[in-house]
Amino acid sequence: MGVDPLEGEDQSIDHRFIAADGRTVWFHTGVHAAERRNKKVYRGLSVEITYLKEIQEKLTQKTAEAEEANRFKSQILSIVSHEIRTPLNAILGYSGLLKNPVIGEDKAKQKEMVDRIYRNAQILLDFINTILDLNKIEAGKMAVQVEEISLSEILKEVGGNLKSAADEKGLRIEIVDDPTLPSIRSDPGRIWQIFTNLISNAIKFTDQGIITIRVVNYYYEKRVSIVCSDTGIGISEKDFANIFEPFFQVDLSASHLGTGLGLSIVKKSVELLKGKIEVSSLIGSGSTFEVSLPYDLSEK
Ligand code: ADP
Repeated sequence: MGVDPLEGEDQSIDHRFIAADGRTVWFHTGVHAAERRNKKVYRGLSVEITYLKEIQEKLTQKTAEAEEANRFKSQILSIVSHEIRTPLNAILGYSGLLKNPVIGEDKAKQKEMVDRIYRNAQILLDFINTILDLNKIEAGKMAVQVEEISLSEILKEVGGNLKSAADEKGLRIEIVDDPTLPSIRSDPGRIWQIFTNLISNAIKFTDQGIITIRVVNYYYEKRVSIVCSDTGIGISEKDFANIFEPFFQVDLSASHLGTGLGLSIVKKSVELLKGKIEVSSLIGSGSTFEVSLPYDLSEK
């Protein structure tokens, strides 16, 4: 075991054996060497310390995990601060300009400034709400409200809300309903949030073509699938898992507005509704997100 005790010195070492059954067994061995009547005498003691070693290993692992969590928190904090500062700076800048007596006189300019302040305040509020929602879901504190709902009504409402954004880019939103689908029991607020995010993304990442929302009823499996397809830029397969991580964006340039939180909220909300989400895509051809939800959230 490599101990070579010198006379009069104490030496100790932790060492291990592999037991016959394959277990690793740790010992702490101490040796004391002394001269007695011209003879070297060694006295030693070995204590089994496997349990202590296991605790030590766990502690090291926990410390590493805590450090990693801390690093992640700092990273999140800096991203969050940036996301808050950008619209806040815009609000401060435009309200500063409004105080300028020359602009104050020009009604058209004044309206433009007020519109920009309003839009940035809205971005700020949406961002804070999203962070709070994500936090609530992660802490298991997001209550689900189960009620009887018409999925196609909600999809029509979401599609209607986003129509002007699609029109601006010359895109069409088509909702293909399945008339055999009965009303389902789920949380309307969550469903609204899921499809608002998915359709907004489809609009954001598509320059021409069509966004299709197809409802498919799986009667025997008591579930419904909602397939959102676009004809946009697509996502490479290596990013399929990453896009659901908070703050991940394939393209970090400022050309696409966003915070990288939408899909993580979508995934967590789908899980809250006991559903599943899958993505398939081809770069340059478009992306498809398929959300599968049970007929009745309160069953099982
Ligand atoms: P955000 O849209 O705010 O950037 P999301 O979490 O909603 O954040 O999406 C994460 C990333 O996934 C986006 O930045 C984008 O790179 C990619 N993505 C999401 N939806 C689509 C889509 N329909 N087409 C192409 N890329 C998409």
